[in-house]
Amino acid sequence: MTPLPVPEADLESQHFFAALDDGQLKILRCDRCGTAHLAVLACNACGGTTFSSEDASGLGVVYSFTRTHIAHHPAFTDRLPFLGGIVELEEGPRLFAPLLGDQPVAIGTTVALELLPAEGRNIAAFRMRQAP
Ligand SMILES: [Zn+2]
Repeated sequence: MTPLPVPEADLESQHFFAALDDGQLKILRCDRCGTAHLAVLACNACGGTTFSSEDASGLGVVYSFTRTHIAHHPAFTDRLPFLGGIVELEEGPRLFAPLLGDQPVAIGTTVALELLPAEGRNIAAFRMRQAP
């Protein structure tokens, strides 16, 4: 099976991807207004530029989802249909990630973080727990 592609970190997202590689999901909380971010250089709520790193709970809900039946990358050919969605973390930030599990998915389904290994790194995925 072709390994899953791993996104390249940039200056804004390096904290997020480095934490995943260490087996953790972390957020950056704005020191000025408290808004939580996953990847940030300047807070979109107040313009603040200093942040404190915190462990995220790894829990959230499905905000939206899509089921893909066509592989747009060789890594997904053997994984079709592929279910992915936007997960809203308990702390507030949203991210797109694979959704794991056989049960039907719905907006509001609760999920928990599950890291997927990929070429020596980790990808954030979420295992579905309970439909709304
Ligand atoms: Zn802020």
